[in-house]
Amino acid sequence: MLKTKSTLRRILTLVAANAALGAAVVAGAAPAAAAPTAPAAVTTLTYDDSLAGEFKSVVADGAAVWNAAVTNVRIVKAAAGQRVNIRVIADDGWPRATLGPIRASGSGTVWFGRRAVQQGYSPLRIIAHEFGHSLGLPDRRTGLCADLMSGSSAPVTCANAQPNPTERSVVQRNYATAVATQDTALTLVVSDAA
Ligand SMILES: [Zn+2]
Repeated sequence: MLKTKSTLRRILTLVAANAALGAAVVAGAAPAAAAPTAPAAVTTLTYDDSLAGEFKSVVADGAAVWNAAVTNVRIVKAAAGQRVNIRVIADDGWPRATLGPIRASGSGTVWFGRRAVQQGYSPLRIIAHEFGHSLGLPDRRTGLCADLMSGSSAPVTCANAQPNPTERSVVQRNYATAVATQDTALTLVVSDAA
């Protein structure tokens, strides 16, 4: 009886040792997490442009701007039947968007308001700015053309559609880890009336 107990204790000790070894292997398997430039997973957000009217091609260009500017998140056109994260809708109002960051399981809308285009604002800057909202950037009405999120506070002639280094790094940080679920439904819509 004593012998059996002792054997059992040895087995349990071995199991515990293996479990510890297993944990060490798992911990050692993710050294990439330490390097901020090499995320474990990239978040891919899909957009639907079926209601984007005449702006379909500039919407694709706006996604390309962000895909070239950051590495932690990508914006791609949804394939048929694929889950949609960002719905792009052309309408006659001012551009506006759901304030993100939108997650892979979440969703939001960008309204490509024709009113800004009619007033002479750059369509590419408009969509890059609105996608900036989707990725979690708020408005910063600095009046500077170098800032993407200055929106219509910059001169109407401003055609800069590139996020500045700070805007890029905020988005990188928003998607530093691929969060699978949207914690809360996104309800805040930011409007870009000039
Ligand atoms: Zn805005």
